[in-house]
Amino acid sequence: MRSLTVGRLRGIAIRLHPTLAIVPVWVVFDWDRVGGLGPGSVVFGLLFVALVFGCVLLHELGHAVMAAEFGVVVHDVTLSVVGGVARMAHVPLSPRAEAQIALAGPAVNLALVVVLAPWLLLAGLIGGLDGGDFLLEVLRPTMPGLLAGLIVANLMLVVFNLLPAFPMDGGRVLRAVLTRGFGRETGTRAAVVVGQALAVLMAIAAVFWIKSLMLLLIALFVIVVAHAEGRAVRVESALRRMRVGQFALWDMGGVAPGQPLAYALRGGPRDVVVTENGRVVGMLWRNTLLNALAQGASGRRIAEVMDGNVASVDIDDSVYDVQQRMNDLQRWAIPVTEDGLYRGVFTVDRLSHVYRQVLPGPQAIGEPAGFAGALTGWLRTLAR
Ligand SMILES: [Zn+2]
Repeated sequence: MRSLTVGRLRGIAIRLHPTLAIVPVWVVFDWDRVGGLGPGSVVFGLLFVALVFGCVLLHELGHAVMAAEFGVVVHDVTLSVVGGVARMAHVPLSPRAEAQIALAGPAVNLALVVVLAPWLLLAGLIGGLDGGDFLLEVLRPTMPGLLAGLIVANLMLVVFNLLPAFPMDGGRVLRAVLTRGFGRETGTRAAVVVGQALAVLMAIAAVFWIKSLMLLLIALFVIVVAHAEGRAVRVESALRRMRVGQFALWDMGGVAPGQPLAYALRGGPRDVVVTENGRVVGMLWRNTLLNALAQGASGRRIAEVMDGNVASVDIDDSVYDVQQRMNDLQRWAIPVTEDGLYRGVFTVDRLSHVYRQVLPGPQAIGEPAGFAGALTGWLRTLAR
């Protein structure tokens, strides 16, 4: 299912996932049952939930804009029924930058609380509310009820997201703090353990205290994601230790620019490095080769069709850096050189051979909004 792009902020695409369509359906059924105030309560519920999702979106934009400040390429921010996600390029960041990007999300929700609080006071004064009455108003279908509900929702977003567990922002902040002392790999491992321990407590609370299936699912989700985060960082560390020279394919030394196009087909269609006197002079991309041959150009020389604008990497570069380079260049293959001389080609096939585990790819900062949903439900049972 494709997400719908609804706008852009500083070049960052804002997308809505089709699963969001479930939300109003859920509100219509659920709010009527719990609120017991008829159609007015449902309309209020729709407005309230839409605004809460808006707050989640602003939270993700907080991450995205801060990441862009650090020069990270942000692909998009997507809002779905499970929450918000900001997808950005996976680049090595200083612990400080990582912490700032992580904190920018909850900071937005805190700012929203500060902005909304005076309006709640004003609405309360107009409605003749005393201090103690504000809590009773939470989620009643009135203006103070709406404002109080939003303030509570944003406070919950702050608290929940600052829990020191992946995938929450607090997990990233904890990792950044630990990275300063112990390095990224150990820091991540420690953050994963803390996060999983917390998730186990959350699961116990969900079963015995809050009695929320949603919270239980989120706790299980946190346990799984924390594990995946730990594994992704282990893969990354391993890739950083590996030299690309070990994995490059000699591929018969590439092809020469003077050879006929058909010659490049020996050994099957693939991206081939073009070399002259041992130096890389171009790449003959598989698609270009096949297109040219389809147009009957097999007699033409390779030099006429090759891509002369080619970046190469050094045999001592880490597999991790090379992978990032290929991602940035959007290439499936890259020549590997030693002191400027061709030593082999490194391809996506070789990469998947190097690690059969998850491709770190673009990293995603996001969090389940479902938690806010679970707590909102719980709050409503208290407010009644
Ligand atoms: Zn966040």
